[in-house]
Amino acid sequence: MADAPRPSAAPLPYDVVRSRRRTLVLHVLPGGRLEVRAPLRMADRRIAEFVESKRGWVVKVLARTDRDPGRVIWREPGPSHGDAVPLRGLPHRVALAPQAGRRDIACALLPPSDDAPPILRVPVSDDPASAGTRLLAFYRSDLEARVAAMLPGAVGRCGAIPSAIGYRSLRSRWGSCARDGRIVLNVLCAALPDDLVEYVLCHELCHLRHLDHSRAFWNALARALPDAQARRHALRGWYLR
Ligand SMILES: [Zn+2]
Repeated sequence: MADAPRPSAAPLPYDVVRSRRRTLVLHVLPGGRLEVRAPLRMADRRIAEFVESKRGWVVKVLARTDRDPGRVIWREPGPSHGDAVPLRGLPHRVALAPQAGRRDIACALLPPSDDAPPILRVPVSDDPASAGTRLLAFYRSDLEARVAAMLPGAVGRCGAIPSAIGYRSLRSRWGSCARDGRIVLNVLCAALPDDLVEYVLCHELCHLRHLDHSRAFWNALARALPDAQARRHALRGWYLR
C-alpha cells in the first residue's frame, strides 16, 4: 500500500540518454539513479509521461536496493564462499570447507581476527545444497540455545506457557502459533540480534492468550515488552527472501 503512486507526489528525477533507438527504456542504476534511454527526437513530455507511468515499479525497485544486504537473510540454494550471512545480528563471512565422505560435520564459528567479520565455517559435500542444509542446522541449534536462555523470562512476562516450541524454516514469517499452545519459530530468527528474537518469542507467547492482532493482543505485548513497538519497527529492517 505504501508503494501505491500518489498523484501529488513530486516528479521522479531522471537522466535521459538519447540514441538511434526506437523504444523507451528506464533503468534504475546502482545508487538509485534513474536513466531513460530514448529515441533521438522523442518529445520530452512523452518521456516524462513514460517515467511517471513506471512510478510504482520504480518505488518497488528502489525499496529493494535500499535494503542492507547484510540483513537479507536467506538466499537459495545456499551460501557461497565469501558471502556475508547474518548471525546474532552481525554479518559473518562464510568460508565453505569442502569435506570428503558423507560424515556429518557441523558448521563452526571461527574466532574473528582484527576488524574482519567473524567467520562461519560451513562444510560442503559434493551435494551443492549441503551448505544450505548445514547452515540451517547451525542456525537452528544457535537459536534453540538462545531461546532456551530467554524463555523463562519471556514466559514470566507474557504469562503464557507454550505446550511445545518447534523450529522450522518458514518462507515469510518469523513465527507462528497454534490453538493447542504450540509455537513455531522460524530457524532464520538466528540471524537476528537477541532483542528481536525476544520480540518474536514474546509476540508468539502473547498469541497464546490472544489468537489475533486485536488491541488486547498489542496491549498484552506492550505490558510484556514495554519497547515492543520499537522492536517491531526494527524487525522490519530485516528481510526474509
Ligand atoms: Zn502475530
